[in-house]
Amino acid sequence: MGDINKMIAEIEAEVAFTRAMTGRKALDKRVMQAIRKVPRDKFVTEGMRHYAFDNGPLPIGYSQTISQPYIVALMTDLLEPDENDVVLEVGTGSGYQAAVLSLLVKKVYSMEVIEELGEEAAARLREQHYDNVETCIGNGYEGWPQHAPYDGIIVTAASSHIPQPLIDQLKCGGRMVIPIGAPYSTQNLMLVSKDLKGHITSRNILAVVFVPMVGEEAEKPL
Ligand code: SAH
Repeated sequence: MGDINKMIAEIEAEVAFTRAMTGRKALDKRVMQAIRKVPRDKFVTEGMRHYAFDNGPLPIGYSQTISQPYIVALMTDLLEPDENDVVLEVGTGSGYQAAVLSLLVKKVYSMEVIEELGEEAAARLREQHYDNVETCIGNGYEGWPQHAPYDGIIVTAASSHIPQPLIDQLKCGGRMVIPIGAPYSTQNLMLVSKDLKGHITSRNILAVVFVPMVGEEAEKPL
């Protein structure tokens, strides 16, 4: 079993290595503390436990993956989470990213389209007392309008374009982190900001590879 100190060191090394692209030579200390605190081994299947503290993605069943720890850390940092924030996550997967975020914000709403995965993640989050995470089964392309607007939105599946419903559900002054591009190739991790007047700007951060966001709309080029 790898250990958490090695995983943290590997994340820090990769952050340093990619600083020219991301504009970040180190991540927020609170983000790294949250990564250190959440036991990644409790979010992977029995057979993968041995690799839980490696800095790589792992299969979680249903052809899906738990993201690489470095990517979870970077995306969390890009969101600039505040303790009063309400955040939407699209793609609950294992629940790991939601657990990390839950230590940094007031409330996390997380959506998963595969029912079995969403229910397993919800049970995991409940058992480990991540009480400020609420999950649901649904198509995240449409967002979760009941709790909008969100201070931050984090999308952990790749879409061909930024879903308009998610732009609409982002608060003015809010940020969205989302991989944009074709499925099964590299995508661009984008940081999307909505200013106080509601204008959208976006910036490419890094080439990444995510599982695709399913649903007709997400797969259709605009
Ligand atoms: N954040 C997860 C990793 C997610 S992998 C973690 O920390 O483990 C991406 C997830 O997005 C997969 O579980 C996939 O089923 C889900 N997904 C794909 N399309 C979706 C959609 N339209 N709405 C909600 N979830 C979706």
